Amino acid sequence: MMIVGLTGGIGSGKSTVAKMFKELGIPVYDSDMEAKKLMETSTEVKAAIMDLLGKKAYGKDGLNRSHIADKVFKDPELLQKLNNIVHPAVRKHFLEWANRQKSHYVIQETALIFENNAQDKYDCTILVTAPVETRIKRVMDRDKVEKQAVVDRINNQLKDKQKLDLTDFSIENLELGKTKRKVKELHLKLLALASKF
Ligand code: ATP
Repeated sequence: MMIVGLTGGIGSGKSTVAKMFKELGIPVYDSDMEAKKLMETSTEVKAAIMDLLGKKAYGKDGLNRSHIADKVFKDPELLQKLNNIVHPAVRKHFLEWANRQKSHYVIQETALIFENNAQDKYDCTILVTAPVETRIKRVMDRDKVEKQAVVDRINNQLKDKQKLDLTDFSIENLELGKTKRKVKELHLKLLALASKF
């Protein structure tokens, strides 16, 4: 089974591209969503988070996101420690999921691959790109947020130029019809690659 990592900066269109692969029958694992689920449901993850951030990390409605965000976003070391709990749990859950899939390759969609130096966990990687101005506009429209909030998040990620040096494949996502054709072409390439696994 070949494992493909799919990433791209905020607003590049990762989820849009992931959906196109799904439509071609490829199983896609959404790391962000699964991480949130594991933080709510895994007893081990919950216990480790409470050890790190205190009992207040969970309230009667589950994970207390604002409490956690307040604590970790002003303390990079604490964020690192939280990641050291969540990332291995997601990795284990992903590998178990991947083993159950009947497909020549599977995709793991993850916001930060190169930023976390995690590219070695994949047989190959796909980077989705779009110009920064386009990405800002998309996210402002989608999330109804101010420009500065998007710019701040973009500045926390590596630039496309740096990531393009590190990725095996890239898809520039501008016009949706063109993107779909690029996804189909890449899908064929990946099937050919996967047959060697
Ligand atoms: P995030 O990192 O914030 O999760 P993402 O990279 O997954 O973002 P998407 O959610 O796929 O990006 O796309 C961001 C927004 O831009 C969505 O509202 C989506 O519908 C829109 N979008 C994506 N691709 C295109 C495109 N080629 N043309 C127009 N709109 C697009």
